[in-house]
Amino acid sequence: MRLVMLGPPGSGKGTLARPLARHFGAVHIATGDLFRAEIAAGTPLGVLADRYIKFGDLVPDDVTNAMMREKLSAPEAENFVLDGFPRTREQAEALDEILIGLGRPIDAALLVDVPDDLIVERAVGRLICTHCGAIFHLEFKPPKLDGICDVCKGALTTRDDDKPSTVRHRLSIYYRTTGPVIEFYREQKKLKSVQGEGSPQENFENALATLGES
Ligand code: AMP
Repeated sequence: MRLVMLGPPGSGKGTLARPLARHFGAVHIATGDLFRAEIAAGTPLGVLADRYIKFGDLVPDDVTNAMMREKLSAPEAENFVLDGFPRTREQAEALDEILIGLGRPIDAALLVDVPDDLIVERAVGRLICTHCGAIFHLEFKPPKLDGICDVCKGALTTRDDDKPSTVRHRLSIYYRTTGPVIEFYREQKKLKSVQGEGSPQENFENALATLGES
C-alpha cells in the first residue's frame, strides 16, 4: 500500500499513520520527524528548516521535495505511508513526478477530518518521545509514568510549535496551502476521508474500512 495522509496538524494523522504503516508493512515517512531529526543533529538542512519550523511556517518546497525524493528512492520505500507531505499543490505535483519516475504511484490519499477546536486542544497537551517518536497526550493519552515513554522509556518532550498561537497559525497555513492538495487528489479520484474524532483504535478501524481493508 502506498498512502498519503492528509489532515490538519494535530488531527491525529501521525497517530493513525503508524498503525496503518505497520498493518500494511509499509515505511512511515513523516516530514516533521525528518526535519526535527536534522535539527537535533545540527545539519545544514536542520539549521535551515529550524528557521521556518519554529514559527510554524512551511519549509520551502524545493528543500522539502529534495529531501523526499531521496527518502522515496530508497528500496525500503516500495510501500509507504506519507505523513505531513505533500502540504502544497507544488509538493503534490513533485511527488507525482517522483513516484511516476520510480513506478510507485500512490493507491490513496486519506483525509483525517477533525474540527479546529479539538485540534488546538489536542496539540496543546501533546507529548512526543525524544527517542522513538511515539505520541502521548497529557489528557487524552497520558503516559504510565510522568515524562517517560511507555514504548521505549525515552524522555517525553513538548514541541515548541505546539503553543496555541502557533497552532492557530499552522491551521491557517493548512487551510490556505493544503486545500489545493485535497482538490488535487479529489481530481485524481484517489481521495478518501475518515472522521478523526474517535479513539486511536476507532480511527484505525474506520480508516481500514474506508480503505476497503476490513
Ligand atoms: P509536523 O510534525 O508534520 O506538524 O511538521 C512540523 C513542521 O515541519 C511544520 O509546521 C513545518 O514547519 C515543517 N514541515 C513538515 N512537513 C512539511 C512539508 N511537507 N513542507 C514544508 N514544511 C513542512
